Amino acid sequence: MASTETTSRSAELYQRACRSLATGVSSSLRRFVTETPLYIDHADGAHFYDVDGNCRADYTLGWGPLIVGSNHAGINAAVAKQLTKGYTYGCQHVAEIELAELIVESVPGVEQVIFSNTGTEAIQSAIRIARAHTGRDKILKFEGHYHGWLNNVLVSYRPKSEDTTLAQPTCGGQPASEYADTLVLPWNDIDALKDLFALRGDEIACVLTEPILANSGSCMPKPGYLEALVELCREHGAVSIFDEVITGFRIALGGAREYFGVEPDLSVYGKALAGGFTMSAVGGRAEMFEVLRDQRTIHSGTYNGTTFNIIAAIETIRELRKPGTYERMNAHGQAIAEALTSAAADVGLDVVVSGVGSVFSVHFGVKQAPRDYRDTTRSDMQTYTRFRAAMLDNGVQLLPDARWYIGTQHDEAVLEHVINAIESSMKDTVRC
Ligand code: PMP
Repeated sequence: MASTETTSRSAELYQRACRSLATGVSSSLRRFVTETPLYIDHADGAHFYDVDGNCRADYTLGWGPLIVGSNHAGINAAVAKQLTKGYTYGCQHVAEIELAELIVESVPGVEQVIFSNTGTEAIQSAIRIARAHTGRDKILKFEGHYHGWLNNVLVSYRPKSEDTTLAQPTCGGQPASEYADTLVLPWNDIDALKDLFALRGDEIACVLTEPILANSGSCMPKPGYLEALVELCREHGAVSIFDEVITGFRIALGGAREYFGVEPDLSVYGKALAGGFTMSAVGGRAEMFEVLRDQRTIHSGTYNGTTFNIIAAIETIRELRKPGTYERMNAHGQAIAEALTSAAADVGLDVVVSGVGSVFSVHFGVKQAPRDYRDTTRSDMQTYTRFRAAMLDNGVQLLPDARWYIGTQHDEAVLEHVINAIESSMKDTVRC
């Protein structure tokens, strides 16, 4: 496995890109993943190969989707076969039914689904369904949770004010009128939720939560928190929505519903659902979709149900349904978590890993796993950034926010490589 010798070709391409592609990248954060954005030539299984000839074990999984790896034979064959039959029809096709049936079979309590392309879109569909279903406007979200880049939900994602209930925009270009109906609370605090429901319960259309706070430190829900949230929604006639764009098909085949044994009214899926193709879905009890059947509201999109995305999702789920898949991914993640904490202890650093086997976050400089967004701000990201740079030099590609994703492509050979890389990168981290 080669370590990073040079990124000069990537640097040249980035300079060229900046002339015609505004910012040089296609999603704002990508500018900050590495000093020079890496240009990937191709990817195969668990490895990314950049244009400078570096090969790296990848734990970014393209920010989550690549749960069965790149160049997957089953997906390739199925998509190749479909490509000769048509890309998108704007009409119905049989594979859509097959995928809907597979999801319904795989996810507890999901009786029906609708399809779209990105997590951002599917979240908006879920919110609209909830509003049409309840006849209410307010949506409630939690600090540090990410539900896509649109104005009504990109609020209090990285709040600057001390006020934990103030809806705060995340970036420029977000007019207050567009998040005027968004309420915000700290997460994992059931009393705060009870109090708000007591005051404004009859205004709230839906409560939106990541079931594991994967976007901010992979905080785990306190025991009983998700159950209480769903129950409070039921009592007050609000729709509970789990944003499973990260956890869906990842922490278990049935996502958080299966992992925690809790069934919200609606769940939103994306990322791992289609193994790297552009697919998202909203699932829930059939009655939740009555508002679409009786035309109180609509769900639309030119690319909804695009053939090869649907086919890729079918192949991904078939792969994930193979016996032992989740046990293997979780064991791989566990082994990495143990290697991280023991290598850190060896060099005198405090490191805590939070989350689950297949998606977790690494926290430097703390002794306890964070429970909410405010806790995560205590993690020492500067040291993590140094560690991540050392890992890149040791042939392992990681995300800047300290979140790691595991997929079925991460086998024993990759594990051996990453554990060696962790041990030497921890030493490099304290040296520099
Ligand atoms: N919800 C969650 C929990 C996410 O992590 C993301 C993306 N990181 C989204 C929604 C938005 O999904 P997309 O980027 O596909 O629009």
